[in-house]
Amino acid sequence: MGVRGRLAPPLLLAVALVALTGAPAAHAAPPTSARSAPAPLPPAPKTAEAVGYGGAVASVSAEATDIGIGVLRNGGNAVDAAVAAAAALGVTEPFSSGVGGGGYFVYYDARTHRVSTLDGRETAPLTADQNLFLENGVPLSFADAVSSGLSVGTPGTAQTWAQALRLWGTRSFADSLKPAEKLARTGFVVNPTFAQQTADNATRFAAFPATAALFLPGGKPPAVGSLFRNPDLAATYRELERDGTAAIYRGDIGQDITSLVQHPQVDPASGWDARPGQLSMADLAAYQVRQQAPTEVDYRGLDVYSIAPSSSGGTTVGEALNILNDFDLRHASSTQYLHDYLEASRIAFADRNRWVGDPRFVDVPTQGLLSQRFADSRACLIKPDSSLTSPLAPADPRHPGHGCAATGTPAPTTYEGTNTTHLTVADRWGNVVSYTLTIEQTGGSAMVVPGRGFLLNNELTDFDFTAAVPGVPDPNLPGPAKRPRSSMSPTIVLRDGRFDFAEGSPGGSTIITTVLQVLLGHVDRGMTLEQAIAAPRTSQRNAATSDAEPAFLASPDAAALTAIGEVFAPNPEIGAATGIQALPDGRLDAAAEPVRRGGGAASVVWPVGPQ
Ligand code: GLU
Repeated sequence: MGVRGRLAPPLLLAVALVALTGAPAAHAAPPTSARSAPAPLPPAPKTAEAVGYGGAVASVSAEATDIGIGVLRNGGNAVDAAVAAAAALGVTEPFSSGVGGGGYFVYYDARTHRVSTLDGRETAPLTADQNLFLENGVPLSFADAVSSGLSVGTPGTAQTWAQALRLWGTRSFADSLKPAEKLARTGFVVNPTFAQQTADNATRFAAFPATAALFLPGGKPPAVGSLFRNPDLAATYRELERDGTAAIYRGDIGQDITSLVQHPQVDPASGWDARPGQLSMADLAAYQVRQQAPTEVDYRGLDVYSIAPSSSGGTTVGEALNILNDFDLRHASSTQYLHDYLEASRIAFADRNRWVGDPRFVDVPTQGLLSQRFADSRACLIKPDSSLTSPLAPADPRHPGHGCAATGTPAPTTYEGTNTTHLTVADRWGNVVSYTLTIEQTGGSAMVVPGRGFLLNNELTDFDFTAAVPGVPDPNLPGPAKRPRSSMSPTIVLRDGRFDFAEGSPGGSTIITTVLQVLLGHVDRGMTLEQAIAAPRTSQRNAATSDAEPAFLASPDAAALTAIGEVFAPNPEIGAATGIQALPDGRLDAAAEPVRRGGGAASVVWPVGPQ
């Protein structure tokens, strides 16, 4: 790719400094007179694929990837690097991640060959019930709910970092936050994606003075090429370094979070009615990241691990893979392969929507959803020459064998926002982290905690506001200290007990189909992980139409699939995945998006091979 070969000398210096110190240097602004606007700085360079040894990082952010690589270079393991990089994402991707949000952390330990997971999902307040989003018996619209205190769940991210480090890391929580603290203080160069995301949210950001002060300096989104500093976030990280996560879960950062949720601070001129929420210090004190067994399915001899409920990611990707175990995708035509993929996804979503919610509150048949017997009973629905009609009825995984008979009332896939970020890290010892983190919608609740430099999530809008189908049990209604169903699917794949590849994506409910399509492209269709990530996407989620990117719609496959009954709806961009693949010769191949969301950043400690 050779991007680095074309760097301007000051930037080369910055890159060299990153390589030496593991922390990005502040970009030195060229001298300017006090009155003239500073000349735009070039954003940090990104490379979508990197091959080599010594560890690898793939994320959407050049700065986060560089910080992760710095930790690996200095002897940290994959968990250390993942936490440091995630903290950096909180700086450069504040609309998708940060200590105001949550996520799911999947870890492969090379010594024990075991995969472990952490569920750091946001939770509803203890006072919540299933009427959380009803006013006078009527559900709020998503637009009314999103930018409010009502949508904010107890954040899980800082506790996820601390617990991951405690269980599997080698560095302290404080050390792991330092590079990101420095990045927040010294700043990063605004790229077009950051500027666009700010512009897209400018109206609601302007309604909250603390948010406007941070993200709309001078009333406008920051200019591309300007330096964006977040000293408040640097101070927040510093406080976390000093006091640990107690600063959030029992301390003054937590006080600031709960008081904002209970009393949203709105510019009266905006006219915005930001509903208050009831999140309290009792909720923060009660919050616990859950360490739980991963989901596991055998796909063509590979062991595919992901996250169990409260996310629907692992069970839904897993069920679709089990269904596809019954089809020969390797030798199928391209159209037939895509047809089988869309149909398996349609069926898996029918079952997801009926059965998956927070397992502490509903009896989720996780093992049944993941059983090959259940999948076999569903695979018979797929016909080679015609598309199924959605919404398709679910079957009962507790009593497999009747999957081809309609056994329930179909439930639609309810709305989920589409922004999040996925980070993949591997170290020189073979340990791997696949970590998806989020604040839900791009820009979350739009509420920056005053003086703290981070946005609060709107994750509670991932609950169904009312039963998806009246009269049919809905596993995803709000409840006290309940976790809303997620679609995040951080995935790690082993071959003969050893790391083969890992991947994940943002994209709301399309996360599941993106992770599935990338996996199939790589395992069955002969693509490298990078090619599978770059390939045009389509997504079927038990809906009348399948989303499809423009490049997919332009393909002969789209026409052939339309001829057998598939109906496509255009979607400009589906997902922004990252992954890492272990090559047979021992090198690591780190892969990110070449184009989507402005392209991602892949890097390895010792580059060797095609760059
Ligand atoms: N809130 C979504 C979920 O938990 C994630 C949003 C996104 O990925 O864009 O699945």
